[in-house]
Amino acid sequence: MIVADYVKMWEDLGMDLEKHDALCEVLPMAFSDVYLSQENRPDNMAFYDFVVSEIHGVRPAELIEHQKQDGKVFGTFCVYVPDEVVFAAGAIATGLCGGSQFWVPGGEKVLPKGLCPLIKASVGARLDKTCPFFRIADMFVGETTCDGKKKAWEILGEDVPMHIMDIPQMKRDKDIVAWKDEIASFAQVVEEFTGNTINAESLGEAIELINEKRKALARVYEARKAAKSPISGRDALLMSQIAFYDDPARCAQMANKLADELEQRIADGVSVFPEGTKRILLTGTPLAIPNWKLHHIIENSGAAVVCEEMCTGTRYFENLVDETQTTLEDQFMALSERYMKTNCACFTPNNARIDDILRLAKDYDVDGVIDVNLKFCSLYDVEGYTVERALKEAGIPVLGLETDYTDEDAGQLKTRIGAFIEMLG
Ligand code: SF4
Ligand code: SF4
Repeated sequence: MIVADYVKMWEDLGMDLEKHDALCEVLPMAFSDVYLSQENRPDNMAFYDFVVSEIHGVRPAELIEHQKQDGKVFGTFCVYVPDEVVFAAGAIATGLCGGSQFWVPGGEKVLPKGLCPLIKASVGARLDKTCPFFRIADMFVGETTCDGKKKAWEILGEDVPMHIMDIPQMKRDKDIVAWKDEIASFAQVVEEFTGNTINAESLGEAIELINEKRKALARVYEARKAAKSPISGRDALLMSQIAFYDDPARCAQMANKLADELEQRIADGVSVFPEGTKRILLTGTPLAIPNWKLHHIIENSGAAVVCEEMCTGTRYFENLVDETQTTLEDQFMALSERYMKTNCACFTPNNARIDDILRLAKDYDVDGVIDVNLKFCSLYDVEGYTVERALKEAGIPVLGLETDYTDEDAGQLKTRIGAFIEMLG
C-alpha cells in the first residue's frame, strides 16, 4: 500500500491514523497469504490485486473528487438497496459492509458481543475512524432486514445522516408494491439530499448501467461452471467483493475482460486446479471484504469453490431489471420486482432460496455444499436446517459450519472441511 500518498487525505477525513496504520500492516500480509501464493492465476486478476493494494487510496480519492464537484456518496449495507436510484441522481453508491476482525472490537464498544461480526465490524469501522469509505459516505442507507442491523442503525444514525429502507419480510403481491413505494420514497430522499432530480431518462440509464455490471459478473460466474476451473474461488470472490465498491462501468469493463480471458482458458483447457478436484458450492451469509477465510481453507484443503449462493455471489447479480419501462412509477415497480427476486433469509417463507441452491448445485456440477453461517446470525442459522435437509434429500453432501472473523477456529475448520472433502471421495 502506498501509504504516503494518501496520509493527507486520511487526515482530512478525520481518520485515526495510528489505528489505521495497524490495519495497513495486517491486510497486505493476509492478502499475500491468501492470494499471491496461488499459481496460474488469470492475468486480469492484476487489476483486482491493484485495487486491494490501494484499497484505502484510489477509490476513496475518486469519491472525494466526486464530492468536490458537489456530488454525494451513499453508503449501503445490503443487496436490496437499489443502487440505480442513487446513480440516477448523479450520486455514487458504495458498499460499506465490514469483513475484518480488525473492526469488531470497535463495534463491541457499543454493541453486544453476541451479535453477528458483520454488523459489529461495520459499526466499528465507522466509530473507530479506520475506514475511509465509512468516513466519506455523506449518507448511510440501512434497511430493516435483520434485528441486529435495525438496532445498529440507531447507533450509527447518531454519528452520520442515515436513511432506513423498510423492507417487507414476505413476498406477497402487496409486499412487492410496498417495496416499490419504499423505493419511490428513497428516490425522494436521494433527490432532496443531492439537489438533483431523478427522471425516467436518468433512471433508465442507471438501470442499464447496473444491469451491464450484473451481466459482466454473471459471465465470470458462467465460466466457473466449466469442468476445468479457469479461476479459483478466491479470485472470483475478490472480484465480487470489489464490485460493491468500484465504479459500476469500470466494474463491468474489468469483469468482462476477466470473463474474456476465462473463456479463452476454457477453450484452451487451462485449469487452476488438478484434475479430479472436488467442486464446492458455498451458501449462506455474506463474505464482506477482506473475509477470505473459508475460501482459503477450502482451497488449501484440496477442493475448489466454484460458486457462492451469497450476497457476495449470485444474489448480487442474478436477475436483471426490466429496461423497457418508460415512467418512473413503472421503473420503480420493475426495480421492486427484480430486487424481490433476491432470496435472503430475512424473508419468510424463503423456499425460493432452497430452489436456488439446488439449481446452482446442479448447474455448477458440485460434489458438495458448505452452508456457512456467521456466528450469531439467527436467520441463516435457522434456515440452515431447511437448506441442509433439502440437500440431503437431493442426495447432495452438505456440511454446515459456523464461524466468525477471528482465526481462533481455523484449526477446527481445517479438520472438518478436510474430513468433508475426503468423504466426497
Ligand atoms: S444477507 Fe440479507 S440482509 Fe445481509 S446483505 Fe444479504 S440480503 Fe442484505
Ligand atoms: S449475516 Fe445475518 S445477522 Fe449478520 S447482518 Fe446479515 S442477516 Fe444480519
